[in-house]
Amino acid sequence: MKFDWIIVGAGFTGAVLAERLASQADQQVLIVDRRDHIGGNAYDRYDEHGVLIHRYGAHIFHTNSRKIWEYVSQFTSWRPYQHTVKAFIEGKLVPVPFNLNSLASLFPSSMADRLERKLIERYGFGVKTPILKMLDEQDPELKELARYIYREVFESYTRKQWDLEPAQLDASVTGRVPVFISRDDRYFQDVYQGIPARGYTELFQSLLAHPNIRIMLKTQAADILPDVQARNVVFTGPIDEYFQYRHGQLPYRSLSFDFRYEQTSDFQQMSVVNFPNDHLYTRILEFKHFTGQNVPGSTIAYEYPQPHILGINEPYYPVPCEANKLIFAKYAAEAKDLNGRVYFAGRLADYKYYNMDQAVGRALKLYDEITQAREVGVSDTPTLAG
Ligand SMILES: Cc1cc2nc3c(=O)[nH]c(=O)nc-3n(C[C@H](O)[C@H](O)[C@H](O)COP(=O)(O)OP(=O)(O)OC[C@H]3O[C@@H](n4cnc5c(N)ncnc54)[C@H](O)[C@@H]3O)c2cc1C
Repeated sequence: MKFDWIIVGAGFTGAVLAERLASQADQQVLIVDRRDHIGGNAYDRYDEHGVLIHRYGAHIFHTNSRKIWEYVSQFTSWRPYQHTVKAFIEGKLVPVPFNLNSLASLFPSSMADRLERKLIERYGFGVKTPILKMLDEQDPELKELARYIYREVFESYTRKQWDLEPAQLDASVTGRVPVFISRDDRYFQDVYQGIPARGYTELFQSLLAHPNIRIMLKTQAADILPDVQARNVVFTGPIDEYFQYRHGQLPYRSLSFDFRYEQTSDFQQMSVVNFPNDHLYTRILEFKHFTGQNVPGSTIAYEYPQPHILGINEPYYPVPCEANKLIFAKYAAEAKDLNGRVYFAGRLADYKYYNMDQAVGRALKLYDEITQAREVGVSDTPTLAG
């Protein structure tokens, strides 16, 4: 079998590259995935009750990039959707990220009004302030508020999610948690937001529908690369796996989802409720609020963070800290040596948390780089060890 390209992984990174190479450069592409479906972690499916569920956790498409939105919109229409999340704190459901509405729900009104005035005066209305910065506040009341938010919203959620103390985590995680001086309850403020109208899997079917693309599922990269000739390889799987873990395993945090069908038309009146301080699970997802599906009953999922165990569960979140950056740098250096023969991209190959739009953007950029690079002749496909 001869192809111009083998792409390992049929998530957003792999599927967008396959589509571009097939439709814009008339390349013959084989895309393989070890799972039994396309779509990577964005995959959705109808469960036995006819409810459309997100198998690997809730996925909301949001971006500020018009280019990315218009690109993806060629393959789907959208259900307009603005994501909001509430957290269960001291017996109340309050908006997160913590904002002025959360303040008003949790504190007596005269105190909430005073704190609101101070927050606006100090930071300005509509501003997002990292919680770690607020903890350095000089004003005793604002400092106390920051401590409260840190304790109730952030600290134990972080411990549950990562099984680490907040101080052990990279500032890219801790610094991301904002206090929003606003009444805007939306989780994302991006210009473009939505859920694919007929689901993510149909979006991927449309992305991969080009006649130059062949799909092979339930196929490990290692099983196919030695037997199939291709000019080039794109690898969107775990970079440490590609190099057979020779510099050690890159740690991930994993999740397990306990899906339950409930005989109620509306279980929690919203798509996501976070539980920072109660229960072992971090959140409950209710899928029909994402999709707008009108079906009897409702499927929900309890989301439990877990350690990642190779071969047992899925690697979900890279654990960003200095030690892991050093391991990744060793693999990245080896990957660079293969430049022009094997390209690495995607959340697992870059060992980086990407939103879907960032994965699409990464793939579009790589496509531009590839097409500007030299023509590579047909050669033996590199083996998994490079
Ligand atoms: C719980 C959760 C919720 C999320 N929610 C959102 C959200 O709301 N909005 C948002 O924008 N983003 C969200 N994301 C991020 C989103 O899932 C990623 O941006 C997206 O999955 C990245 O696509 P990818 O192609 O790089 O990786 P993936 O989707 O992981 O695709 C990689 C594919 O490669 C395959 N593969 C790996 N190794 C091999 C191998 N050796 N051989 C064959 N196949 C292989 C895998 O099976 C997988 O299908 C969320 C992520 C998580 C974990």
